Amino acid sequence: MLQWIKQEKNAIRTVSELQEYINLSKKELSRLEEVCQTFQMKITPYYMDLIDKDDPNDPLKLLAIPNIKELNIKKGELDDPIGDTNEALGNQPEKALTHRYPDRVLLYPTPECGGYCRHCFRRRLAGKKEFQLTEKQMDTALKYIDDHKEIREVIFTGGDPLMLSDKRIDSILEAIHQMEHIVTIRIHTRMPVWNPYRLTDKLVSILKKYQPLWLVSHFNHPRELSETAIEHLNRLTDNGIPLLNQAVLLKGINDSVEIQRDLNWALIKARVKPYYLHQLDKARGISHFRVSIRKGMGMLRDLRGSIPGYAIPHYILDIPGGYGKIPMDYHYLNSDGNGLIIVETPFGELRPYIDGVDKKPDALENLETVHPLEVYSKSIKQKFEEVTEHDLQEN
Ligand code: SF4
Repeated sequence: MLQWIKQEKNAIRTVSELQEYINLSKKELSRLEEVCQTFQMKITPYYMDLIDKDDPNDPLKLLAIPNIKELNIKKGELDDPIGDTNEALGNQPEKALTHRYPDRVLLYPTPECGGYCRHCFRRRLAGKKEFQLTEKQMDTALKYIDDHKEIREVIFTGGDPLMLSDKRIDSILEAIHQMEHIVTIRIHTRMPVWNPYRLTDKLVSILKKYQPLWLVSHFNHPRELSETAIEHLNRLTDNGIPLLNQAVLLKGINDSVEIQRDLNWALIKARVKPYYLHQLDKARGISHFRVSIRKGMGMLRDLRGSIPGYAIPHYILDIPGGYGKIPMDYHYLNSDGNGLIIVETPFGELRPYIDGVDKKPDALENLETVHPLEVYSKSIKQKFEEVTEHDLQEN
């Protein structure tokens, strides 16, 4: 049996299986059962071996093992934080497509993942069988892509697209590769982290046929780049498949300049270009991982000078509701210094964003009941303009 399938079959999925590896009190046990009912657990034996079982705050443990804090849902957290299902923005949830930018489309072929990340932003669908695309649904999605000649790039995301069989991956990629208007394909996957054995010679030979094809991994901590992971990533680069990485900024995992520096050096050593560092999305039950934008921007500033420019990822916010990704820099942000940030979408629209976990500026007290754009009233806009004017005069 292939090693990656073995890992899949022997993955730890229940709290009683988890007990064989980690000491848990009776109270913890019952609460974890509850957590796993809201978002399931799956940890491969490979990843379990990377965890330091004796350290209660081991970052890899926090990334993989359910935590009762996930039952603590904060105000403003959403089922669909980045608006994948927001049809008003042109998305096609029934076809498993998100068509947010004219030239790119996201396709979710499967909800299955190699493991379930405790900070998952797509927990509304990850691991839920009803989101598995049937052949018919896939045909409809492919027809949509074929009909929309403005699309240049197809991005496979999930779930994890590499959970599909080699045969299925081959046939879907072939169909897309034949569309003349498609310039490139991108595959977002966390298999190199949960189960790097998935990057078999056979899979690499399939991916190689459909270049230009980019693979985007999702390493969050330098210790996830084990020798096994690097060995398997090298198979891809040796075969001409370029690798990018997107990490998420996570409290207790990688929210220090030192860890970010080590992570990005480790990626460069593994021939993976650090691409994005995401601000954590506002999904339900993950506030214990949240780091403020203010802190994130400070860290990114301090990273400059300690690692080469090409090793610094873009620090990105996916604006809640599906309004697009923006880089966290002062061209896109305007803050009142008290947790309220006004962000400018890629399409020039202004939207409010609450930084941090519990902060709620008075002006946004009714955010849940009022459309954010109504809340973002002229008076707030004026206030920011005045501050900017004032600051300019001061300087
Ligand atoms: S691989 Fe992606 S979709 Fe799956 S659990 Fe992790 S973050 Fe969620």
